[in-house]
Amino acid sequence: MKICLIGSGYVGLVTGACFSDVGHQVICVDNNATKVQQLQAGHIPIYEPGLEALVKKNVAEGRLRFTVSIEDGVDQSQVIFIAVPTPPQPDGSVDLRFIEGVAREIAAVMKSYKIVVDKSTVPVQTGEKVAETISRYNKAKVDFDVVSNPEFLREGSAIGDLMNPDRIVIGVNNERPVAAMKEVYEPFKAPIIVTDINSAELIKHAANSFLALKISYINALSIICEMAGADVEQVADGMGADKRIGRQFLNAGLGYGGSCFPKDLSAFIHIADELGYEFDLLKEVEKINCLQKERFIKKIRETLWILTDKKIGVLGLSFKPNTDDIRSSAAIEVVQALIKEGAKISVYDPKAMAKTREILPNLNYCENPYDVADGSEALIILTEWDEFRSLDIGRIKNLMVNPIILDGRNIFSPKVMESAGFIYKSIGR
Ligand code: NAD
Repeated sequence: MKICLIGSGYVGLVTGACFSDVGHQVICVDNNATKVQQLQAGHIPIYEPGLEALVKKNVAEGRLRFTVSIEDGVDQSQVIFIAVPTPPQPDGSVDLRFIEGVAREIAAVMKSYKIVVDKSTVPVQTGEKVAETISRYNKAKVDFDVVSNPEFLREGSAIGDLMNPDRIVIGVNNERPVAAMKEVYEPFKAPIIVTDINSAELIKHAANSFLALKISYINALSIICEMAGADVEQVADGMGADKRIGRQFLNAGLGYGGSCFPKDLSAFIHIADELGYEFDLLKEVEKINCLQKERFIKKIRETLWILTDKKIGVLGLSFKPNTDDIRSSAAIEVVQALIKEGAKISVYDPKAMAKTREILPNLNYCENPYDVADGSEALIILTEWDEFRSLDIGRIKNLMVNPIILDGRNIFSPKVMESAGFIYKSIGR
C-alpha cells in the first residue's frame, strides 16, 4: 500500500517506520522543517527503543522517506493518516486546530479518491467535522472517505505495541474504505474491530480513562494501606491475580503523567459535559492523581523538614521508563515543587536530561546515580527505570550525607532497604 503519515512525532514516525517495515511504501510528512531535515539526515529526534535502526533500515531499502510537503504525501498515497497533536486547552477541551488545518490542507491538494484516516486522539464526532471540512475545501470535488483508527501504542514499547497490537480499531461510516484498511493492517495479524466512526473515537478515550481509573484506584488504596498498616503491593498482587482484574496498571506511585492520560481524561470529562453528562467518576480519578503528588511532597517535607538549601538527589525525570518524554511528567512536577521550596537539586535520568534541561536549565545534571547520591541529604526516586533497581545500594549509602530514600515508584523492598541502613519511605506500605 502507498501510505502517508501527516505528523512525524511519537505516533506518526513510529507508525510510518512500522508500516514501511512490513512492506508498505511510506511518506512521513511534518511541517517542522528542522525535524524533517534531521530525519532526512538519519537523525531521530525522539528516543524510542529500536526506532533509529528501524527508520534507517527502511530508508535505506527505499520504503520510507520524509518531506515537509503535504501535497507530495497526498499525491503519492492511497491512504493518508493524520497523526498531529491534539493538545488540551486551558478548560480541558481539545484544541483541534491542527486536525482542522491538516484536513483543509489535504482537501486543497486532493486530486483523486483518498482514504483519510484520523490516528490522532480526538473527541467523538470529530470524524464528521473532518469530512465536512474536506468536502468544503476540496474544490476539485473528488470522492474520499474518512476513517477513525485510534492508536494504542505506549511510548517506550511503541514498536512492539504497533507490530503486535491487541486489536486494531477501524471506524467507518460506510463499507468502501474497509478493504483498503484491512490491507494496510493485514501484515500485523491482529484482530480487527470494525465500528462506526463515533464509536471508534469513543473507544480511545474510554480505554485511556479506564486505565487511568485503575491507576487512581490503586493509589486511593495506597492511602488506605498507609493508614491501616497494610502493604499496597501485596494488595495489588492479590487483586491482580484475579483474571477479571489483572495486575497491570495496579502499581501505586506518583500517579499517571505523559502526553496522553492527563489530557485524554480532561478531554473526556469535557466531552461528556458537552453531551450533557457530568462524569464525576473521572473527576475523582484526576483528583486522586493530583493528591498522590501532593502527598509525596508532604512526605519529603515531613522527613527533611525545611527544604531550603538542602541538597536533594533526584533519580528519574521522564513520565515513565524507556522514554525521553517529559510532557506532564509527575517527576518534573515534583522537581518544580522542590525548587520552589529552595532545595538544591542534582538529577540523573538515562534519557530525559536533554529535554529537561530545556525547561529547567539550573539543575545539577549528573552522569550517573552515584554522582547524584554524592553529598545528598536525601535521594528521591521519581521514575522506575530498570537501571535504578540494580543500583549498588551500599555504595549509594556511603556517598550520601544522610541515608534517606523517598521512593515515589516503589522500586525497592522496604525490608531490604531498612536492613541496609536506610530510612526508606515509599507509597502505600
Ligand atoms: P507529537 O507532538 O510527538 O508529534 C506530532 C507531530 O505533528 C510533530 O512532529 C509536529 O511537528 C507535527 N505537526 C503538527 N502540525 C502539523 C501539520 N499541520 N502538518 C504536518 N505536521 C504537523 O505528538 P504524538 O505524541 O505523536 O501525538 C499525536 C497524536 O496521537 C495525538 O492526538 C496524541 O494524543 C495521539 N497519541 C499519542 C500517543 C503517544 O504515546 N504519544 C499514543 C496514542 C495516541
